[in-house]
Amino acid sequence: MVEDFPAGSVWLVGAGPGDPELLTRKAERLIGAASMVFYDALVGHGVLDLIPPGVRRVPVGKRAGRHSKDQASINDLLVAAALAGERVVRLKGGDPSIFGRSMEEMAALAARGIGVRICPGITAASAAAASAGVSLSLRGLARRVQFATAHKRGDAPLDLDWTALADPACTTIFYMGRGAADEISRRLIAAGLPGSTPVLVASDISLPAERLLHSRLDLLPLAARAITEDQPTLILVGAAVAPPPARGGGARTGTLGFREALLREAGR
Ligand code: SAH
Repeated sequence: MVEDFPAGSVWLVGAGPGDPELLTRKAERLIGAASMVFYDALVGHGVLDLIPPGVRRVPVGKRAGRHSKDQASINDLLVAAALAGERVVRLKGGDPSIFGRSMEEMAALAARGIGVRICPGITAASAAAASAGVSLSLRGLARRVQFATAHKRGDAPLDLDWTALADPACTTIFYMGRGAADEISRRLIAAGLPGSTPVLVASDISLPAERLLHSRLDLLPLAARAITEDQPTLILVGAAVAPPPARGGGARTGTLGFREALLREAGR
């Protein structure tokens, strides 16, 4: 289907959290039809393996604490490739529309008259909830879900509306938050959330190294210390992300325990 992907056009494609099985079929088709692929550091190896042999692949990785191309250079590369007549796929971790700076790339391409469209992907928060066997919304407990970026710029305090983030009837998910775990814990408690509020620290979601640590808001700094800097990590806060008591303690064993309990029930 070349009609939606002519030479000289660009697709911003959501690559999901890492597991290639979590790609959309459209993403897989676009990857297969590309003549050139630019990709972020967070795009999973299994997804990159779907790029046909002979197709040029260019890492433009942005990753906390590592040298990478700045956004303006990435925009220029995409524009140059499209003007050279390539069919360009720009692979972005998760969903391009969530903390993906997609609008900057869209604007740079549109300003040059280049056709550009977005293919959505599974965002890390959805994948974390699935892995942990929890729901981000929960009847009666979490009627609202909010995504925030906790990306630290040096030592400057995070510029966030902590009162809004401390809503006890909401599930709050911090992207890029590992380095800000102490601040998140301190500021949310100061804004009124109980220290006992359930927290889930989820890293390398959907990948072999996946870790799911259930904790509580006052102990979040400790949980975050168990994760290293190069592991992509989400911090989820709120009653909905607690492991239900029926499932026992930690997520991995807890989730298995829950499934075993269900199987036992079914087998009776
Ligand atoms: N567009 C992406 C988010 C990009 S911001 C999305 O929709 O998921 C990068 C942040 O996303 C990381 O710092 C981390 O907080 C989160 N993230 C992305 N992939 C992840 C994964 N596999 N496991 C845990 N967190 C992930």
